[in-house]
Amino acid sequence: MKTYKIACIPGDGIGKEVIPAGQEVLQALAGGGAGFDFQFTSFGWGGDWYRAHGTMMPDDGLEQIRGMDAILFGSAGDPHIPDHITLWGLRLKICQGFDQYANVRPTRILPGIDAPLKRCGPADLDWVIVRENSEGEYAGVGGRAHQGHPIEVATDVSILTRAGVERIMRFAFRLAQSRPRKLLTVVTKSNAQRHGMVMWDEIALAVSKEFPDVRWDKELVDACTARMVNRPASLDTLVATNLHADILSDLAAALAGSLGIAPTGNVDPERRYPSMFEPIHGSAFDIMGKGLANPVGTFWSCVMLLEHLGEKEAAARLMQAIEEITADPKLHTGDLGGKAKTTEVTAAVIARLKNR
Ligand code: NAD
Ligand code: MN
Repeated sequence: MKTYKIACIPGDGIGKEVIPAGQEVLQALAGGGAGFDFQFTSFGWGGDWYRAHGTMMPDDGLEQIRGMDAILFGSAGDPHIPDHITLWGLRLKICQGFDQYANVRPTRILPGIDAPLKRCGPADLDWVIVRENSEGEYAGVGGRAHQGHPIEVATDVSILTRAGVERIMRFAFRLAQSRPRKLLTVVTKSNAQRHGMVMWDEIALAVSKEFPDVRWDKELVDACTARMVNRPASLDTLVATNLHADILSDLAAALAGSLGIAPTGNVDPERRYPSMFEPIHGSAFDIMGKGLANPVGTFWSCVMLLEHLGEKEAAARLMQAIEEITADPKLHTGDLGGKAKTTEVTAAVIARLKNR
């Protein structure tokens, strides 16, 4: 029997509530006839670690998790610590340290979810957004000078490399090719950003020649927001830069009904390092510690984790169980207009997994 080593990093806020729930659900799928098992190791990194040690994770943190098969991550963000410290000190450190250059965000309207687009049925919204996750606007290049003086200056320089753009384009075309519609939209802003984004467009065109069976088009990022709302069925797979896809994917999550449902994977397609799966929501300060968090985003992230490990059957079983519980309004948490608690939703998913 194969044993997968999984690093669990709950982080902060509701991360501490949804990650243990995800671990329980994964455990319910393992053992016996499944043919695989999990060995979980939890790491108490994040805001509490910062208060105790002055850093979000230990200096050798990446070494501690390098040998894992995958990482299940909650959220980084603490009400008492500036966001750029929590984000860069933990989540981005892992994403960049492990060169997880493809951030993959599936979006669908699950059964029973009341999504805001009244003119569109669930079948009209089935997207995967691919976010360049290693450079671009979040490369961390820039600085500040003359701090505190009237002539103070601050820069964030977007870095696009030919190698970086080629690899994300290739990943996105390959993903589009693997989906039934074989349709890719390359999101750009080459009208206003006339250097990096023009190269981005040129590389998209060059890589497209390797995928003659994939239909593709280009859309400016601002126009893309309108298209997502007005013509959702015209989109399938999208690829965008770090910043553009960050924003588009929050819109996508809202259009699908709630931030509490949406999953993501930070993937190293070459599998040199462990990939990291996480709900896209943050620490949710307003509801943390109350047992009210929707764990579905974490469960769906577990589906992606299982797919990444090659456990397609277990992944499909879990997705099926998720769709059964979202279809039942009694199992909706507050973000979906219901009253269910994190523990109730978790128990319901596990009960469905056990009943098969
Ligand atoms: P957020 O996602 O934490 O919350 C936005 C709103 O959505 C809140 O009203 C929250 O209650 C609700 N919500 C989010 N997830 C939910 C869930 N699972 N169930 C029910 N309701 C849910 O975003 P924010 O308020 O902008 O950020 C709070 C903190 O989290 C900040 O410190 C931010 O930096 C951090 N953050 C971290 C990540 C990450 O680690 N990947 C992502 C986003 C935000
Ligand atoms: Mn975001």
